[in-house]
Amino acid sequence: MQLPAFRNEPLTDFSKPEQQQAFAKALATIEQGLGRTWPSWIGGEEVVAKETFDNHDPGEVSRRIGRYQKLTADDGKRAVEAAHAAFPAWAERPMAQRTEIFFATARKLRERKHLFSAMLVFEVGKSWAEADADTAEAIDFLDYYAGLAVRLAQPQPVTPVPGERNQMLYIPLGVGVVIPPWNFPLAICVGMTAAALVTGNTVVLKPASQSPAIAGMFVELLYECGLPRPVLNFVTGPGSVLGAALVQHKLTRFISFTGSRDTGLWIFEQASKTQPGQIWLKRLVAEMGGKDSILIDQECNLDAAVDAVVASAFGYQGQKCSACSRAIVHQQVYDEFLKRLLPKVQALKQGHPKDRGNAIGPVVDASSKNKTLEYIDIGRKEGRLLTGGGVAPGNGYYVQPTVIADVPPKARISQEEIFGPVLAVIKVQDFAQGLEVANNTEYGLTGSVYTTNDQHKELAKQRFHVGNFYINRKCTGALVGGHPFGGFNMSGTDSKAGGPDYLLQFVQAKTVSEKVG
Ligand code: NDP
Repeated sequence: MQLPAFRNEPLTDFSKPEQQQAFAKALATIEQGLGRTWPSWIGGEEVVAKETFDNHDPGEVSRRIGRYQKLTADDGKRAVEAAHAAFPAWAERPMAQRTEIFFATARKLRERKHLFSAMLVFEVGKSWAEADADTAEAIDFLDYYAGLAVRLAQPQPVTPVPGERNQMLYIPLGVGVVIPPWNFPLAICVGMTAAALVTGNTVVLKPASQSPAIAGMFVELLYECGLPRPVLNFVTGPGSVLGAALVQHKLTRFISFTGSRDTGLWIFEQASKTQPGQIWLKRLVAEMGGKDSILIDQECNLDAAVDAVVASAFGYQGQKCSACSRAIVHQQVYDEFLKRLLPKVQALKQGHPKDRGNAIGPVVDASSKNKTLEYIDIGRKEGRLLTGGGVAPGNGYYVQPTVIADVPPKARISQEEIFGPVLAVIKVQDFAQGLEVANNTEYGLTGSVYTTNDQHKELAKQRFHVGNFYINRKCTGALVGGHPFGGFNMSGTDSKAGGPDYLLQFVQAKTVSEKVG
């Protein structure tokens, strides 16, 4: 099979009036259809539960996004069993047939990309540009993993042994439970689900409760593009009940999780407990939190560093695992850095993200707003509040972009993941101390340095202990294929999503040796 070379989906140029009109039209179409009641799907059948739950637009809480089935632990068990029953037929499908479904889904998603992005604007409060990037990444994951799966099905290199014909084949694992977060509710959900399915596994997908509608749109798209329904079971409901039952089921072969450190650790522990009748060790792919830093050296392009900090700290309101939540700044440029940073933060326009001019929207829900405000209060005591610090107007969960300076390296706001628009600025004596501070949390996801000093670049390359390390570039915005993504330590199992080895986590290798002659 001849594959086209992989190319990242280009981002939409919203300075063009025709793109603005197209996106406004998509927003109007999606807004009109909001409030729909979504079914779950188990074993190819629509499932309706006794109880339902709703979610609302975080930027305008009177707007209901949808109503979903609140499934129970028993429903979860049925979903795993249905996926188990569908496994043998799906696993035996020739790879070319499986991959074609995912290439076709990528094409259809490209055609309808503004509709999906518009849903992201309403459901989780993404600006136009952030929503467009999320959808572009989802298209990339579909194309990239389908291409990788084709290569995985080719003969693998083994050393010849005289008198034998030897092969190593990759075969699927079984039932995978896929549990994504709400902050990239399309891209991460698509990437995790597509990787598990294209390699021949069957899946039970449980989206985050803040973002089931966009996940439902993706599931419907896969069905439309020919995925047999029993192969992908879609279940909605509380993670602590439904998600837990999926993780604990004896027929669950692997769990692919992206979310917080605490949930990840709980799943890690549960996955290690064998259930009566379980005949395998469950595999866990877990991508968890971050506390990411940009280290700014004395010798650097300071304006570029300031722009990178603003983009990485406040893009999508700081709700990215890769967000810069700490700027670590050399004492020689510290005051100048703050002087240049402040007007740029204060110029960020905040409001409902359906208006193109609003760069900053709401945080995702009430608990996120309260948590962020609590951390700001802690930060007021630990450092010096420079700007922000409160709520912003609007009938939603708006928290002002906030900068707290003079933060000690071991302060709580320097150590704990806040997941909101809060930046801590830390002063260091020299570059070496900056590196020590950069490594002083339990996380290890992303980080950048801004420096023009080649020795410092080399030193940081060796010592800055993160899965995704950048030089003179912001610490968010990893591209599928170009920046395989995943972190160290409490940031997870370093899965390197969007990288050449990612699919190996969803297969097992079988060696076949035949005596000949
Ligand atoms: P959570 O851990 O709260 O939730 C993630 C998912 O886990 C949700 O689908 C949730 O369901 C589910 N869940 C919750 N409890 C359980 C349980 N006991 N058993 C099984 N599933 C459960 O994370 P968030 O959704 O708040 O996502 C934000 C976090 O994700 C941040 O920490 C961020 O850093 C991290 N993240 C990491 C990335 C990485 O690549 N390292 C990328 C993106 C985000 P429900 O919503 O129903 O509770």
